[in-house]
Amino acid sequence: MRSIKNIHSDKESHWVGDGFYVKTLVNHLEDNPDFNYRHTDPFLLLDYSKPTHFKPNPNYDSQPHGVGQHPHKGFETVTIAYAGEISHADSTGGYGVIQEGDVQWMTAGRGIMHEEFHSPDFGRRGGDFSMVQLWVNLPSAHKLTDPKYQALKRADLPMIDLTANESGRAIGKVAIIAGEWQSTSGAASTFTAINMWDIALHSAGSTTLQVPSTHNVMLLVQEGELLINNTPVAAGSLIQFAAPTQIEHEPTPSHDTIELNFPTTATDGQASNPAKLLLLSGEPIGETVAGYGPFVMNTQAELKQTFRDYQTGNFGK
Ligand code: MN
Repeated sequence: MRSIKNIHSDKESHWVGDGFYVKTLVNHLEDNPDFNYRHTDPFLLLDYSKPTHFKPNPNYDSQPHGVGQHPHKGFETVTIAYAGEISHADSTGGYGVIQEGDVQWMTAGRGIMHEEFHSPDFGRRGGDFSMVQLWVNLPSAHKLTDPKYQALKRADLPMIDLTANESGRAIGKVAIIAGEWQSTSGAASTFTAINMWDIALHSAGSTTLQVPSTHNVMLLVQEGELLINNTPVAAGSLIQFAAPTQIEHEPTPSHDTIELNFPTTATDGQASNPAKLLLLSGEPIGETVAGYGPFVMNTQAELKQTFRDYQTGNFGK
C-alpha cells in the first residue's frame, strides 16, 4: 500500500480573473519543505474550482467572465470541465469550447498566448461551474516543442468499471484521461509517463487502485466522503501520498495499491452522494525548474531570456 503522507484541505479559494474561483492545491512556487515540486513532479500546479454558481451574464459580449490574453511557456495546461463550459482562443487562431465532461490538453511548449472565458452559452445562461486546471511540466528535451492541442470529448475517454473487491460488483466508473489502467490506454498523448484518472463512485464498497511504484501520486477528492487507506477524507481535500517506493525501473514494473472504501449511507447500498475523485500520478522528471507567473523553464537564465523575448515581441518564436 502507498501510505498517505499528508492531507491538504486548508487552502482558501481565490479568483483567477473574474471567472474562476479556485483553490490552488499544488503550486511549484511554494517552498513548503514537506510539499513542494519535488513531491508533485511532473505536476506543477493544480487549481480546483468547486461547484460555484454564476448568475446569467447579460453583458457577456462586452464583459465575459474569465481571463483575457496571457502567455504560457515550457509546460502543458490540462483543463477538465466538470460543470459549465470554458471557451478558449489563442494566438494561432485556435478556438474551442470545453464542454461539460471534456478535457483540453494544451501543450504550450515554446510559447502560446491565449484567453479563457466562460463560453457564450454558459455565460449568458449562468449555472454551476466546476473545473480543474493542471499544469504539467515538460522535460527539457521537449520544453520548446511546437504548441498543440488535444481536444478530448467525454465520449473519447476510455471508461472502465470500478469493481468492489469482495463482490466484483460495479461500484463506480473511471475515465482514463491519460496513462494506463491495466491494458487500457488513456485518451491523451503525454511527453512523460502520467496517469490521470477521473473516478466516480456511485455505490458503497471497497476497491483498490494500482499505481506505478516509481510515480509521485496525488488524489483530489472533489465530492463525497470516503476512507482512503482507512483514513477518513472529506471533499475538497488533496491527498499527498508518500514518495515513490521504487526509484529505478525493475524489469517487471511494480505497483503500489491505494484502498478506497466508500461507506454505505443508504439501506439499498446506493450512496446518497456519489464520490468524485481525480487521481494523478507521474514519473518524476527530476530536473530543476525556474518558474515565474506563466513561464516554467529549467534555469534562471532561460527564464530571463523568456521575459526579454516577451518584452521585445519575440515570444514563442
Ligand atoms: Mn492560461
